[in-house]
Amino acid sequence: MLKNNFFSPPSTNYGEITGPIVMIGFGSIGRGCLPLMERHFKFEKSRMVVIDPSDRDRKLLDERGIRFIKTGLTAQNYEKVLTPLLKNGSGAGYCVNVSVDVCSLDLMKLCRDIGAFYIDTVVEPWAGFYFDKTKSAAARSNYALRETVLDERAKNPGGITAISCCGANPGMVSWFVKQALINLAGDLRIPFKMPSSREQWAKLMQKTGVKGIHISERDSQRSKQPKPMNVFVNTWSVDGFVGEGMQPAELGWGTFEKWKPRNGRNHAFGCQAAIFLEQPGAATRVRTWCPTPGAQFGRLVTHNESISIADYFTVGEGKKPAYRPTCHYAYHPCNDAILSLEEMFGKEGHCQEEQHILDENEIVDGIDELGVLLYGHDKNAYWYGSQLSIEQTRQLAPYQNATGLQVTSAIIAGMAWSLENPKAGIVEADEMDFKRCLELQLPYLGKVKGYYTNWTPLEGRAKFYSEDIDTADPWQFKNILVR
Ligand code: NAD
Repeated sequence: MLKNNFFSPPSTNYGEITGPIVMIGFGSIGRGCLPLMERHFKFEKSRMVVIDPSDRDRKLLDERGIRFIKTGLTAQNYEKVLTPLLKNGSGAGYCVNVSVDVCSLDLMKLCRDIGAFYIDTVVEPWAGFYFDKTKSAAARSNYALRETVLDERAKNPGGITAISCCGANPGMVSWFVKQALINLAGDLRIPFKMPSSREQWAKLMQKTGVKGIHISERDSQRSKQPKPMNVFVNTWSVDGFVGEGMQPAELGWGTFEKWKPRNGRNHAFGCQAAIFLEQPGAATRVRTWCPTPGAQFGRLVTHNESISIADYFTVGEGKKPAYRPTCHYAYHPCNDAILSLEEMFGKEGHCQEEQHILDENEIVDGIDELGVLLYGHDKNAYWYGSQLSIEQTRQLAPYQNATGLQVTSAIIAGMAWSLENPKAGIVEADEMDFKRCLELQLPYLGKVKGYYTNWTPLEGRAKFYSEDIDTADPWQFKNILVR
């Protein structure tokens, strides 16, 4: 098992970025990335530029002599703004996209055309997409957004590395799934060779009898101040969370499922690995399990990894593959965010005008417990992930909380991997070397550990009211979804 060394910030050099760096967005993630980039990469600060329409935190850039451009990228201006910046001087440039409302696909294409590396943490569309009432739920799904990236890769294979969706989740959790699978297969005493292709990984998942995977998270970080009325409070982007939370709930749809919700829909195009529900993900509750709280409700917020992981571990092809695990996010955000969601959905999804992201100075305590729960096998369920506290985070890196550090350290690991693999083309986290990436990221993840549990979504059910549940197969989505 991988060993981690928490509390001591690592100083290892992860490589040299030979060209200019352009960071797009300087919010909670951009701010947290900056000191880690300085710590781990050699680059010319005089050729680094940060672009953001808000200059809230430009002091951090000014004191480092890093250029700041106060502007918002749009479909009309992005080529004109970015091309000269990424081509400034010799070497291969690097575009780190940690913004909201900027189209990942357009940026990725531009970067690859001009020979610059690219990384983002989400397949983000241009502003307005998430709330466009003229678009169907299917068209507003992450499935549809991901397919645009897969299409681009099919049209233009190979070339300079561009990493799609490399944060904590999507991102790091795909590496956790592989480590968890290896641990589980070993504990189940299943003989296997380390898989070396997607097909072999999928077959190993099938062999272990895993029925599904939750990306299971509990954020227990608490603020000194109780949440005021009419303010949306979160530990990371409010815009990002509200955008994805209002998208339809989506999940990778496993071959073992016998029941589908009445508002569950398939897609008419693409990989067929996922379905969506005609309801917002942040208002969709599911039963899940994390080591500290035990059983809990999570929100089935759509995420790229729900689809990419289900797709990656599919055995066979087409509409009726031989095997595919169910996969979805089951997110319990910080308590203030839960209250903020209640308030927002109480107003039919109209978001509070005031937003607030809790920073490392105002959080009193708490951890972000983010892992993968592999369920339905002979040892019932296995959670493997990171348990990172705010106290550890403060010692490891400045300008971020625990949620942020899980994301920024994944970006750093992804960037380091891309420098070691400069001609990998467009890749998702599932396709990267999980051992190498975790090795690079582990010093920042607090305790990284696996836990078995006897919990199932049937535990404690049907005591007071009669319920339509499947007692023969505890892990059916029918039992997991709170109806
Ligand atoms: P944030 O809201 O704190 O910051 C986003 C920044 O983007 C803001 O400073 C904003 O002014 C800027 N911005 C808005 N419009 C812009 C435009 N047109 N051009 C350039 N910049 C613009 O968000 P954050 O918490 O820093 O998150 C950044 C991104 O990372 C979001 O897309 C979020 O969804 C994503 N994210 C991914 C993960 C993951 O694990 N994969 C986790 C957290 C955040």
